[in-house]
Amino acid sequence: MANLRRGVDEAADLIVAGAGMAGFCCAIEAADRGASVILLEKEAKLGGSSMLSGGSFAFAGTDQQRAAGIEDDADLMLSDLRAVGQHKNDEALLRVFGAEQHATYRWLESLGFVFGPPKVASGQSVPRTHRADPVGMFGLLAKAADRTGRVRVLRETTATRLVRENVVTGVMVGERFIGARRGVVLTTGGFMRSEPLLANFAPHQEHAMRMGSGGCTGDGLRMAWQLGADLRDMGYIRGTFGMHPDAKPDEHHFLHSIYLGAIAVNRLGQRFVDESLSYKLVGDACLAQPGAIGFQIFDRGVMERSTSDGSSFDMGAALRAGRLIQAPSLSSLADKLGIDPAGLAATLDRYHAGDPDFRRTSLSSGWGKPVRIARAPFYGYPSRSAVVGTYCGLVVDDALRVRDVFGEPISGLYAAGHVTGGFHGAGYMTGTALSKAAVFGRLAARSAV
Ligand SMILES: Cc1cc2nc3c(=O)[nH]c(=O)nc-3n(C[C@H](O)[C@H](O)[C@H](O)COP(=O)(O)OP(=O)(O)OC[C@H]3O[C@@H](n4cnc5c(N)ncnc54)[C@H](O)[C@@H]3O)c2cc1C
Repeated sequence: MANLRRGVDEAADLIVAGAGMAGFCCAIEAADRGASVILLEKEAKLGGSSMLSGGSFAFAGTDQQRAAGIEDDADLMLSDLRAVGQHKNDEALLRVFGAEQHATYRWLESLGFVFGPPKVASGQSVPRTHRADPVGMFGLLAKAADRTGRVRVLRETTATRLVRENVVTGVMVGERFIGARRGVVLTTGGFMRSEPLLANFAPHQEHAMRMGSGGCTGDGLRMAWQLGADLRDMGYIRGTFGMHPDAKPDEHHFLHSIYLGAIAVNRLGQRFVDESLSYKLVGDACLAQPGAIGFQIFDRGVMERSTSDGSSFDMGAALRAGRLIQAPSLSSLADKLGIDPAGLAATLDRYHAGDPDFRRTSLSSGWGKPVRIARAPFYGYPSRSAVVGTYCGLVVDDALRVRDVFGEPISGLYAAGHVTGGFHGAGYMTGTALSKAAVFGRLAARSAV
């Protein structure tokens, strides 16, 4: 147990910095195990980027998958994660995730989470995205934390430095020292809203949009970095295709109709990618197009597959909001979107004939069959690539202890969620940022207390 230094302003067994998905799951788990917790949140609003997200969680082997006749388990999920991550993932993290993910799905349900039916999404060889309402889930997490009677949530309270005396003994909040008897867990999220860090680690994303909570400026990364923490996967930051160009950084205007059958074209009306690939790879391809913009184009048949759950498959909601453009013919759609009508018509002919340049054999990562785009009305969604997550960061071991540049654990310091690297490797599967945050948040708590 760490000794607290003199002059402590307040203290708890565990300090958790950042009240998003990882921070809340960590705080609840620690409190359930008898620890007192102070959960610090920089912003006035709780929930971080988790609350702005699409609410898609990737879990395998669920009752809902079984009921829908979908065969899936942790092994298949891990092999998909390796394929998407180009085998750069940290195997130790994959192993503990695989062992814990289903129990965390059940645990979230026990807190009141209601997950929608499984849907297929980027990087998944079978449907395993289970969606929960991103705003509602923070009401449930706050209630669960409150019920323990051991979690104090301090809003508008920014951890500014870690304090180490042999072991990490707490955090500074400006001039105030908050002591941690059992450790500090960094759950401060990514750095999508820090231009200096993005310029350092992701100069190739200069023309991508930036999305996420204003609190996600890489504070945890810098604090641990100061103590010698090692970093991982920093070179793999990629944007996600499908964000409407008018979206503000804290708005969620994603559409992923490409995974239901839409094609993606540029201003010349030309396809530029196999749309069944991960939306990160589609995002990379989009950045290389004129004006770094693409357009998802589809027809009535694809529209009939729209969900009505506010997710990135809810084309009906995008239409009602005026962001999705509808037209009676392909040429009038092209006019409305400002793309070349002749180019678009030629592209569709080529697509239906099996375009050899960007051959597509599935809707998403091997799942489903491509469809013809031929039935009026036609639809188009202007789409850019947006950095919604950084997917890289602190090196942690399978007990979520932060490791320094020589591979030694930094005693008393843990990290979980989007502030960490290693799990995703070089790519990203939809829904694993939230499920990772929940699983590893809980595991960090178990390690620390
Ligand atoms: C538009 C959008 C859509 C997304 N959709 C999905 C999706 O559907 N599925 C999915 O899996 N992922 C999605 N993601 C990614 C996902 O939301 C994040 O990766 C995930 O929420 C990270 O959780 P976290 O708890 O690590 O961080 P966050 O939820 O970002 O929480 C971090 C918190 O730490 C706080 N903080 C930062 N610094 C400090 C400090 N110094 N002191 C105190 N507090 C601090 C922040 O203010 C923030 O509240 C999406 C992201 C965006 C932006």
